[in-house]
Amino acid sequence: MNDNRYYQQLDQRTYYSAITCLLVFVVVHTFEGYYFQAIAGLLSTALITMLARRVSRTSQYDETNTLRLASWLSLLMMLCFTVWANTMGATYFIFPLMLSACIIFPKETALKLGIFAAIVTTIIAHRWLNSADMFRYCTSQILTMSVGYIYASVIERNELMLQQLANTDPLTQTLNRHELYRRLTHSLANCRRHQQPSCLIMIDIDHFKAINDTHGHLTGDSVLIEVCRVIEQRIRETDLLFRYGGEEFALLLPQENLIKTTSIAEDLRNKIAAHDFPKGIKLTISLGVAETHQDDNDQTLLNRADTALYQAKNKRNQVIALEYNANTELSPA
Ligand code: GH3
Ligand code: MG
Ligand code: MG
Repeated sequence: MNDNRYYQQLDQRTYYSAITCLLVFVVVHTFEGYYFQAIAGLLSTALITMLARRVSRTSQYDETNTLRLASWLSLLMMLCFTVWANTMGATYFIFPLMLSACIIFPKETALKLGIFAAIVTTIIAHRWLNSADMFRYCTSQILTMSVGYIYASVIERNELMLQQLANTDPLTQTLNRHELYRRLTHSLANCRRHQQPSCLIMIDIDHFKAINDTHGHLTGDSVLIEVCRVIEQRIRETDLLFRYGGEEFALLLPQENLIKTTSIAEDLRNKIAAHDFPKGIKLTISLGVAETHQDDNDQTLLNRADTALYQAKNKRNQVIALEYNANTELSPA
């Protein structure tokens, strides 16, 4: 499941849970004759329903978490109204609410919301509690928030580790081919939406097999690693280097045009040719360059860069750039 879909589902689930709780609040308050709270509950329900409709119409992930935030704050508001007007009992609802914040929000946001909720509910619950109970109430809140925060931190760290394992090449520590497809889709979407071109360079080390045959695979491995380091030193932080397979690499340069990228490729070719690798090894690379076009998909873009590389391989140690040509583009299978 992609990130967008995941967050949309999280939004939806939070929304339905909040609506269910709010409607229970509304029904209970109506029966008990607390009409002000019931109306506030209905207004919150209407507000977050409007938000949910707006969010569901956009296909993009809402980075401000508006719907989740509105749902969560509506529940906190209902909790406060209930405690303020009728009973202390409702205030225990704060504990699951705090834990839910740690699950549905980034941990920093959850912490801020937890502190805010703790302060507000403690002030409101103050009228029902003696000092010993107040102490127990506050420590329980701190404990709940700490457990939630630690849980969120562990999950976040594991997620990062898994993400890194899934998108990184273990030998060179560059991004892997799977990640290349993901980033290409993103660059092509940018090209179509904002008319911002990006460029792709396909790189192949010349006569690499001879290095393995002469010096062994371990030296071959360290040469592969060093080639990546030399390339990384020359590119911007926003440029992305991928191991495409074996001794082939792909370099994605967001928001860069064909002319500038061709000169960067030329520079990379010179840098590698001038570099002294371990055991006095000298080597060269061949490079194929292509620019994103709004009619491209990832396959046509890769095909164009690969065709350019294939042409560069005729003589080796050279850069070939190919422009988009609607008549000769290969369609995806
Ligand atoms: P060309 O100039 O035509 O590209 O020749 P080449 O020798 O570079 O290309 P070829 O495809 O004939 O050989 C690629 C070699 O790369 C063969 C393979 O053993 C080596 N190789 C692929 N992956 C690795 C790796 O992870 N480590 C090492 N040491 N060698 C690798
Ligand atoms: Mg090759
Ligand atoms: Mg090669």
